[in-house]
Amino acid sequence: MSEQNKDLHPLTKAVRIQTPRSFQMEHSTPLFVTSSFTFEAADDMRGAFADENDDNIYSRFSNPNVDEFVEKMVALEGAEAGFAAATGMAAVFGSMFALLKQGDHLLCCSSVFGSTFTIVTKFLPKYGIACTLVPANDKAAWENAVQPNTKMIYLETPTNPQLEIIDLAWAGAFAAKHNIILNVDNCFATPLLQNPIAYGAHLVVHSATKWIDGQGRVLGGVVVGRADLIKEIYLFCRNTGPSLSPFNAWVLSKSLETLDVRMQRHCENALKVATALEANNKISWVKYPFLPSHPQYQIAINQMKAGGGIVCFELKGGIESGKAFLNSLKMLSMTANLGDTRSIASHPASTTHSKLSEAERQSVGITPGLIRISVGLEFVDDIINDITQALENC
Ligand SMILES: *Cc1c(COP(=O)(O)O)cnc(C)c1O
Repeated sequence: MSEQNKDLHPLTKAVRIQTPRSFQMEHSTPLFVTSSFTFEAADDMRGAFADENDDNIYSRFSNPNVDEFVEKMVALEGAEAGFAAATGMAAVFGSMFALLKQGDHLLCCSSVFGSTFTIVTKFLPKYGIACTLVPANDKAAWENAVQPNTKMIYLETPTNPQLEIIDLAWAGAFAAKHNIILNVDNCFATPLLQNPIAYGAHLVVHSATKWIDGQGRVLGGVVVGRADLIKEIYLFCRNTGPSLSPFNAWVLSKSLETLDVRMQRHCENALKVATALEANNKISWVKYPFLPSHPQYQIAINQMKAGGGIVCFELKGGIESGKAFLNSLKMLSMTANLGDTRSIASHPASTTHSKLSEAERQSVGITPGLIRISVGLEFVDDIINDITQALENC
């Protein structure tokens, strides 16, 4: 980072951090679409390989567009260092596999993103890494699950899709007490609404595909945190290869310039949608972190600046109503992504979680009539009207 950026507010850094200008004096960052970088002398190249300098060698290791994106994320999360990966899952996977080894134990929140659930229950055990799943808000269960070989705690807050909130101050103290690495998936909150590192998290992972890109264009992921841990993750990833492409990094870095204003509007719209739905007689409950009816409302307002862009609710009519709801929408998109400018509706029981048994769905909080809305940036009355008219057919 240039000296002149050093003392700026993180929000300014998200706008102003930029790779050094080329002789063309471009205002926006250029795209460095190159697999490798050249050297003028053999000794310079030797020095780069010997880690004597920060010269770029090969884009699997580093690239100016990727570095710019990472530097902004490090500033926004208040981290020491970071590494960007091709997808959110590559960041999650890298953060676990780089730091855990055979014989280690992982403590994981039971309601985590589907592919994360698959990694910790199917792949980690294959390599001799045990995992205990713990209900998000059962503090006694977390405490009882700690073993002498527990090396990492992994959690999401808010959780997907149930929007449970885990007390980060509690989690930070819990990890410190047992001297365990605390790794938090901060995807739903974004660094604008909550900074887990401030509460004692050692690592923060993101799917940049969601709110960070925010426009449904590219996949990306990032892990930021303590420098010694990031170094291990970097060495693992630079050799195993899940590097972020320069083009995607360029898109994501530009997106960070507008993340703050976008999130403000997403949150404002989401609170209005949640409030409007609370009175609807087709649904049994609405969940949104900043609604006073949310079970962890107090924790949410303490640790988050706003409630985020996801609202979920339960249709009284169960699984058939879920399908009828989706079929009755006129504007909201039926698609697997979230965190887009365009509002999205999904029905986990008939889609993402349809392969699970009813009992398995219950255990991860997927009820039959659960609908998840990713609230976009359309004029809010249009979003509410579309949801309300679709509910009439449920
Ligand atoms: C989408 C998502 C991921 C995975 O990110 P990809 O970019 O799709 O690989 C991880 N965690 C959460 C909470 C997500 O929503």
